[in-house]
Amino acid sequence: METILTITNLTKKFGYLTAVKDLSFTIHKGNVYGILGPNGSGKSTTLGIVLNVVNKTSGDFSWFEGQTTTHDALKKVGAIIENPNFYPYMTAYENLKLVCKIKGVDYSKIDEKLEIVGLLDRKNSKFNNFSLGMKQRLAIASALLNDPEILILDEPTNGLDPQGIHQIRSLIKQIASEGTTILLASHLLDEVEKVCSHVVVLRKGEKLYSGRVDEMISSHGFFELKSIQHDTL
Ligand code: ADP
Ligand code: MG
Repeated sequence: METILTITNLTKKFGYLTAVKDLSFTIHKGNVYGILGPNGSGKSTTLGIVLNVVNKTSGDFSWFEGQTTTHDALKKVGAIIENPNFYPYMTAYENLKLVCKIKGVDYSKIDEKLEIVGLLDRKNSKFNNFSLGMKQRLAIASALLNDPEILILDEPTNGLDPQGIHQIRSLIKQIASEGTTILLASHLLDEVEKVCSHVVVLRKGEKLYSGRVDEMISSHGFFELKSIQHDTL
C-alpha cells in the first residue's frame, strides 16, 4: 500500500497549551481519512503543521515516504484550510485563471475541474453571486487544479444548509472514487460516518482511536467515543 503521509510523535505547544500531543498516524493512498474531534481538539493545528503553515514543536511528519522535500511534496497536495480568497467581482473562471497562474497550471484544467464540482454552467457568474455551497465547490475545484494526490479539507461543510452539506459530501465521495486520497477534519461524527473509510479521533490533542470507521462503529468503546463528541473543552 502506497504511503502518502506519515506523522510520528507530533507535538505542538502554544505556550503552556499542548494543542497536539505525541500524535502518530499514517495515510495510505486511496482512502478517505477523517480527523474527528470536538472544537479545540487539535485538528486544524495538525493540518497546518503538515501543510507547513504551523511550526511543529517536536516529532515529525513525512510526505510520500520522504522521497522529496516538503516544499516539493506540497505541490502534489490540494488543500482548503481556511476561507479561500476569491475576488468577489470576478467570475468563477477568472478566479480560477488566477489560481492557475500562481500554481503554474494550464488553463485547460479549469473547465475540467468546474465540471467535476458541478459549476461548469456557472463559470461566467461572479463569485459574489454564489451561494456558500457553490463557493465551497469552487474552492474544491481550485484545490484540484494541480491534480493533487491528496485533497485536504478542514470542516468542509461548516455553515452550509442541508442541501449544500449533501452536495459537498457527495462530491468528496465522488472525488475519492476517482482515485484522489482525502483527508478531512470535522467535529461531526455524522460527517465522518457518511464520508470516511478511516478515522483518527482526537481529544485535547491526543489520539483516542484510529482505524476503520466501520470497525469503530461496531467496536465496544464506540458509545464512549460518541459521548466525547458532545463534550466541550
Ligand atoms: P480544532 O481545529 O480541533 O478546533 P485547533 O487545532 O484549532 O483545534 O486548536 C487546538 C488548540 O490550540 C485550541 O485550544 C486552540 O485554542 C489552540 N490554538 C490554535 N491555534 C493557536 C494559536 N495560533 N495560538 C494559540 N493557541 C492556538
Ligand atoms: Mg479547526
